[in-house]
Amino acid sequence: MFRAGHFSRAIILTALLAGWQVGAAIAAVPTPAEDSVQMLERADKLKTADHGEFLRLLSQLDQRATELSPGQQWHLRYLDAWQSAFDGRYDLARPQLHDIITRSGDPTLQVRALATLVNILGFGQHYEEAFTQLSTLVDLLPSAKSAEARYQALGETAQFLAAAGQYELASDYAQRILDDPELRDRACQGMAFKLRVLFRAGKVRGTDPEYDRGIDTCIKAKQALYANSLRNDQAKYAIEQGRPKDAILLLQAHYDEFVSYHYRVLMNAVNVTLAQAYLQLGDLVAARKYASEAVTEAVKDKFSDSLGPAYQVLYQVEDKLGNTRAALDFHKQYMEADKGYLNDVSARAIAYQTVKQQLLANKMEVDSLNKQNEILQLQRELDHKDMETSRLYIALLITIVASIAFWLLRIKRSQMRFKRLATRDSLTGIHSRQHFVDETELALRAAAKATRAACLVLVDLDHFKEVNDTHGHVIGDLVLKRAVAACQHHLHRRDIFGRLGGEEFAIYLPDCSAIRARERAERIRQAIAATPLWGETRLVVITASFGVASTDRSGYDLRQMMIDADNGLFQAKRDGRNRVVYSEPADFIAPAAAPATPAGPEPPMEHAVGVPN
Ligand code: GH3
Ligand code: MG
Ligand code: MG
Repeated sequence: MFRAGHFSRAIILTALLAGWQVGAAIAAVPTPAEDSVQMLERADKLKTADHGEFLRLLSQLDQRATELSPGQQWHLRYLDAWQSAFDGRYDLARPQLHDIITRSGDPTLQVRALATLVNILGFGQHYEEAFTQLSTLVDLLPSAKSAEARYQALGETAQFLAAAGQYELASDYAQRILDDPELRDRACQGMAFKLRVLFRAGKVRGTDPEYDRGIDTCIKAKQALYANSLRNDQAKYAIEQGRPKDAILLLQAHYDEFVSYHYRVLMNAVNVTLAQAYLQLGDLVAARKYASEAVTEAVKDKFSDSLGPAYQVLYQVEDKLGNTRAALDFHKQYMEADKGYLNDVSARAIAYQTVKQQLLANKMEVDSLNKQNEILQLQRELDHKDMETSRLYIALLITIVASIAFWLLRIKRSQMRFKRLATRDSLTGIHSRQHFVDETELALRAAAKATRAACLVLVDLDHFKEVNDTHGHVIGDLVLKRAVAACQHHLHRRDIFGRLGGEEFAIYLPDCSAIRARERAERIRQAIAATPLWGETRLVVITASFGVASTDRSGYDLRQMMIDADNGLFQAKRDGRNRVVYSEPADFIAPAAAPATPAGPEPPMEHAVGVPN
C-alpha cells in the first residue's frame, strides 16, 4: 500500500541541491599544497556538484583526521554522516547525526545535522520523530551562524510543513529565506518554495505575475531547474483551466532541459503533466507514451507522487480505447497508488498534530513545576511572617491553582480538537478515512469470530468535477454534505460511515447479507438522486455510483473487500453511472452490454452537467 518515502524524496531536493550552485562555480581541480582545512571546506562544497571528488577528499580527510582541530573533526564527522545518508545507509547515518546534534556544541553543525536527520526520518516515514527533531531545529535556527546552514534548515522546514498540509506556516519559513539579507543569492529558491506551497494551497494561480517574477529571478540566478519546476506548475494550472495546448507548448519548449537534470522527481512530474495535457487534447497515443514513461521511472525508484496520476491517465486512455481488461488493471493500480498517497498524507498531518500536542504538554509540565517551586518558596518565607502574609499567600495559591487549571483545560481542549481531527472528516463530520479503516477492521475481526456476514459499500459521486467546474467549490461542498446527509438518513446505528477522500465514501454494514446490502445501497442511491440543490442559477442534480462487496465472496479482509467493491464501482461507472453493482469475483469481467445488477436506475430528473465518457 505504502510507497516508501515518496514525499521526502522530493524534500531531499533542498539538502541535495544546497551545494548545487556554489559547487558548480568551484573548480574540482585539487590544489597542490592543500592543507586539511582547505580540503574540508572544498569537500563540503563539492558534495553534490562533484560527488566523485567529494568521496576522494573524504577518504583522504578520514586518514588525516588527527591533523584537524576538535571543531574541524566534528565538521568531518558531519560530512561522513551526510555521505551515509546520501548512500541510503540510514541506520548508520542516524547515530552519527545524533552524535553531532548532542555532542558537537557547534550550533551551525547541529542545525545542518538536524536538517539532514529530519530529511532521512521523513524518507523512512518516521514522521513523528521527524517533526520532533524539526521543532528542535526551529529552536536552534537563530544561533546558526552560517547562512548556508540556515538556508538548508529553512528550506527543509518549509517543505516538511507543506507536506503536513501546514501551508501558511510553510510559506512563512520560505519567506524567511527571502528576508534573510545573507541569503540574497537564494532568492530564487525562496520564491520557488513559497510559490509552490501557495500553489498547492490554491492561494496563487499559475497565471499570476508572481510566477513570471519567480521564473525570471531563477533564470537570472542561473537556477534553471527551479525555474522549470515553476513552469510545471504553470502547465498544471493551464490544464485545470482547459488549455492543454498551452501546457504542452510550455513543457515541450523546455523538455530537453528537464531531461538534462537527471532529477527523477521532477522528470516524472513533468511526464505526468504532459500525459494529462495530451489526454485532455484527445491525443491518446502521446498521453499513453508520457504516462508509461512516468510509471516506469516511478516504479523503478519505488516512490513517487507521480505514480497515482500516471496510472490514472493510463486507465482513462485504455477506457477510451475500449480496452476493458487493461483499463481495469490500471484502475486498480491507480486506486492502490492513490490510497497509499492519501494514507501517507494523513499520517504526516497526524504526526504533526501529535508532536504539537506533545510540545504543549511539555510546556504545561514545566509551567506547573515552576509554580510548585514558587509555592515551596512562599511556604519557606511564610514560616517567618505574620498572618497578613499568610492571607496573601492563600490568595496567591488560589491564583496559581487556577492558572494550572487553566492550562489543563487548554491542553484538554486541544487534545480533544486533535482527536476530532484524527477521527472526523472536517467537511462532513463523518469518520475520516483512517478512522473508518480502524473501526471497520475491528468490526470485521468480530464478524469473522462470530462467522456473521457483513458488507462493504463504496459510493462515488458522478461527474462531481463538473459540478465544481460549473457551480464552484462552495456549491460542491454543499453537495457533498447533502449527499452525506442522504446516506445517513438510511444508515443504522451500528453501520460505519466514512469519507475515503474527495467525493468517495464507504459504508460498512454489519450483519448484512449481500442481497440486503444491495437493496440498502439501492435505497441510498435513490435518496441521493432525489436530493437536488439550488445552485447559483439552476438546480444541481447529483447521482452516485455504488460498488458492493460481501464477506461471503471477499472474506473478512478489508483490503480485499475494498478491491472487490472498487471493481463493482468501476463497472457501475463504466455501465453509465447512477447504479449499484455487486462485485464479481476478481477474474471475471462482465461484457459491457450486460451489467451485473439489474439495478434499473431511474433516469435522473436533470443531470447536473453529465455527458458520459
Ligand atoms: P466520475 O463520475 O468518474 O466519478 O467523475 P468525477 O468527476 O466525479 O471524478 P473525478 O475523480 O474526476 O473528480 C472528483 C472531483 O472531486 C475532483 C475534485 O475537484 C473534487 N473534490 C474533491 N474533494 C473535494 C471537496 O472537498 N470539495 C469539493 N467541492 N470538491 C472536491
Ligand atoms: Mg466521482
Ligand atoms: Mg472519485
